[in-house]
Amino acid sequence: MALSRRAMVTGIAAGTVLPLAAQSQAQAQAQADAAGDEVQNILSTAAAWRQTAAERDMLYRQAFNIAADRLDAALRGEGQQRRGRRPLAFVSDVDDTVLSSDTYWARLLSAGKQAFDDELWDAWVRENGPTPTPGAVEFTHYAESRGVQVFYVSSRDQGPDTHELGVANLRHAGLAFADDAHVTMLRDSSDKEPAQRAIAAEYDVIAYLGDNLNDFARRYYVKSVSERKALATEDSERFGRDFILFPNNTDGHWMRAIFGESEPADTPAYRARMLQAAQGLVT
Ligand SMILES: [Mg+2]
Repeated sequence: MALSRRAMVTGIAAGTVLPLAAQSQAQAQAQADAAGDEVQNILSTAAAWRQTAAERDMLYRQAFNIAADRLDAALRGEGQQRRGRRPLAFVSDVDDTVLSSDTYWARLLSAGKQAFDDELWDAWVRENGPTPTPGAVEFTHYAESRGVQVFYVSSRDQGPDTHELGVANLRHAGLAFADDAHVTMLRDSSDKEPAQRAIAAEYDVIAYLGDNLNDFARRYYVKSVSERKALATEDSERFGRDFILFPNNTDGHWMRAIFGESEPADTPAYRARMLQAAQGLVT
């Protein structure tokens, strides 16, 4: 629409001799339309929601409140029949669960990019760019105060110092349990189940925290939008109970279901596919 408006303005300017005031008005309109075109980054609505919506923040708070309720219930002994005498714990994802990537997306959009960018991400991680998500600091310290541990399992790859960078990010954000014993960084795979099983063998896991279905079970690592929805729906009863879900509208395996990969490059085909998905045409 902006393009057609601009074409119209250009047409008037080219075909008609306008009074000076009208010319400058037309120029101003043309400039505004050009700026509008630049704003048409397909990630801008999603990133704006991250940055500004109180609703987004409260979805985090709501999820951590549920986690705290689950913790309190576990301490009261609920679910004891399936529990042994193992110590209680949570298993949490890192990015967009306890660490926010809002400032990364802001940087990416400022750089004029329209798709995930590895180089920018790695630089941002190394600068301790991540901030805690709303409620993450309070929740992890509450768990610690009640004698319940939080383990972090994440898929990241910044090279040989991936683990150290991850621990540093968590520590910099002020989260409890930001230490070697509680952090697992998977560089070669997004399959978290072996690490999660190892924790569950020693601890009674109250719930799993994540922004991606894959943070809860590998069986969700499937290819299509409809398959993911069907599998998650089968497990509806577990959400808000065993699985505590956080919002992420910019990246994750929901993107993989659309594009066939989690971090597609910015190409005309990518933009076209995103628009198709937005119209409900990708299933
Ligand atoms: Mg995540």
